[in-house]
Amino acid sequence: LNTLKLVQQKLETALPKGRVVLFSRDDHDEYTKDYSSAAPVEPSLIVEAESQDEVATVLKVANDFKVPVTPRGTGTGKSGGSVPLPEGIVLGLKSMNRILDIDVANKMVVVEPGVITKTLQDELEKVGLFYPPDPSSYKICTIGGNVIENAGGPKALKYGVTAEYVVGLKGVWANGKRFEYGGKLYKNVAGYNFVQLLVGSEGTLGVITEITLRVRLLPKVQTDILVAFNSVEDASKALLAIQNARIQPVIAELMDKTCVKAVESFLGNSIPNSHAGAHVIFQVDGNDSDHTQKEAEILSDLCRQHNALDVSLATTDKEKEVIWNVRRNVSEALTAFSEHKESVDISVPPSKIGEYLSHIESLNTSENHCVLGYGHLGDGNIHVNILNLGHSQEKWATLFPAIERSVFQKAVDLGGTITGEHGIGLSKLPYIDLMFSEEDRANMKAVKAVFDPNAILNSDKAI
Ligand SMILES: Cc1cc2nc3c(=O)[nH]c(=O)nc-3n(C[C@H](O)[C@H](O)[C@H](O)COP(=O)(O)OP(=O)(O)OC[C@H]3O[C@@H](n4cnc5c(N)ncnc54)[C@H](O)[C@@H]3O)c2cc1C
Repeated sequence: LNTLKLVQQKLETALPKGRVVLFSRDDHDEYTKDYSSAAPVEPSLIVEAESQDEVATVLKVANDFKVPVTPRGTGTGKSGGSVPLPEGIVLGLKSMNRILDIDVANKMVVVEPGVITKTLQDELEKVGLFYPPDPSSYKICTIGGNVIENAGGPKALKYGVTAEYVVGLKGVWANGKRFEYGGKLYKNVAGYNFVQLLVGSEGTLGVITEITLRVRLLPKVQTDILVAFNSVEDASKALLAIQNARIQPVIAELMDKTCVKAVESFLGNSIPNSHAGAHVIFQVDGNDSDHTQKEAEILSDLCRQHNALDVSLATTDKEKEVIWNVRRNVSEALTAFSEHKESVDISVPPSKIGEYLSHIESLNTSENHCVLGYGHLGDGNIHVNILNLGHSQEKWATLFPAIERSVFQKAVDLGGTITGEHGIGLSKLPYIDLMFSEEDRANMKAVKAVFDPNAILNSDKAI
C-alpha cells in the first residue's frame, strides 16, 4: 500500500490537477466490471487520460513501481477484459475521443481511441464514407476497444472484422515508451506486422492512443429482408443457394424459435410467424436501387424455394426498425427469463453450423435449463446462451461448467474457436487449454514479456 501511495503522489505531481482519482465504491462502481459475468474487482486509482503524454506518464510510473494497469474504453467488453486488478490503476481512454482527420481523398480516417463507433460511422456517412465493423454495442463502445478486441458484427459477412480496417497505430508500451506503426497505407509489408499483433491483443501488450483506419465508399441503398424458415437447416441451405447465385448478403443474422418466443413475451407483442423454426435477417446493399431491389427479389425467391414460411422486405427506416427490434431485444429477453445466463461467442466454419447447433440442442437434457444459439449465420459466429431456468444454485454450480466446456469443446472439434468476437479475457481463460498447448501459451507469454517485462498490463488475462 505504501507503494501505491507513492505512485499516487508521483502521478498527481506529473498529471493535471484532478486527473488522478482515488477509487470510491459509491462513485466508481462502473470501473469494477464490464458486461461479462466476471466478478467485479475494485481498483485503487483511476486516471481518465486526455493525451498520449498522460498515457505515457501513467505507464512509466506504474512500470517503475510494478503496479498493474488495466486500460479501459467504455467497459462494454464481454470477457472481463477491463475488469481491474486489486491495488491497481484503471487507465481510461474514453476522454481521448477526437476524430483527428477524415481524409476523403485517401479514404482513411485517423481517430483517438475513445471515439464511440457510431459517432465515427455517422461522421463518415456525412461525406459518403463507410466504416463497416458494427458490433451490436456500436452506440456505446469505443473504437480503441474494438481494435484491441478485434470486434466483429453482423456486417462481417460481407465486409470483414475490425482487423481488416486497421492500417496504423500509435500508442505506448508498458514501460512508457511510445510506438508508431503503419499509416495511411493500403499496402505495407516492411518488417514484422506490429499493427496486426496489437489488434486483438486484449490490452496485454500496449495502450493504443491513435488509430488509422481505412474506410469504404458508402453504398447508396440497403434493403433488409426478414425471413421465417421452417428450420435452421433450411436457412443455412438458403444462404448457400443465395451465395451460389452470386449474391453476397451484407448480413445474415439468425434467431431460433426460442429466441423469437422469448422476445415476444418480453415485449408483450405478437411477432408474425413466431412459431417458425428460425428467423433470419438478411441485408443486401449497392448503389443502384433497381439492381439492389432485383437482388432482394432473387434472395427472397431462393428463400421460398427453401421452405420459407414468410418473407418481408424493408427499405424505409420505419420498416427496418420493426425487423431489427426483434434481434436487438434477444439478449435482454433471454436474461429476463433465466436465473443465470452465460453468453459465449464460439465460431465454427460456416458449413458446420447445423452440426454445431444440433450438438447444443442435445445439451438440453432438463426443462430446468436451456442451451441455444443465435447470431451470425453466414460467418459461423454463434452466440451460445446457457440459461438456468429452474435448477437450484447448488445443482447449477455442478451442471454449468460441464455444459459450458462441452459448448466450447464441440466448437474446437469442428475446427472452430472458443471466441469469435469477444476475446478470451478472464471468462474464457479456464478453457484456453482447448485451443492452445502449453508450448503455444509459453510462446505467447514470451512475446508479451518482450513488450511488458514487468507484466503490468492485463497480465491476469487472455493468454
Ligand atoms: C450489448 C452488447 C453487444 C455487443 N455486441 C458485440 C458484437 O456484435 N461484436 C463484438 O465484437 N463485440 C460485441 N460486444 C462486446 C464489446 O462491445 C466489444 O468487445 C468492444 O470492442 C469493447 O469496447 P469497449 O470500449 O467497451 O472496451 P472495454 O470493454 O473498455 O475494453 C475491452 C478490452 O480492451 C482493452 N482496452 C480498451 N481500450 C484500450 C486501448 N485504447 N488500448 C489498449 N487496451 C484497451 C481493455 O483493457 C479490455 O481488455 C457487445 C457488448 C455488448 C454489451
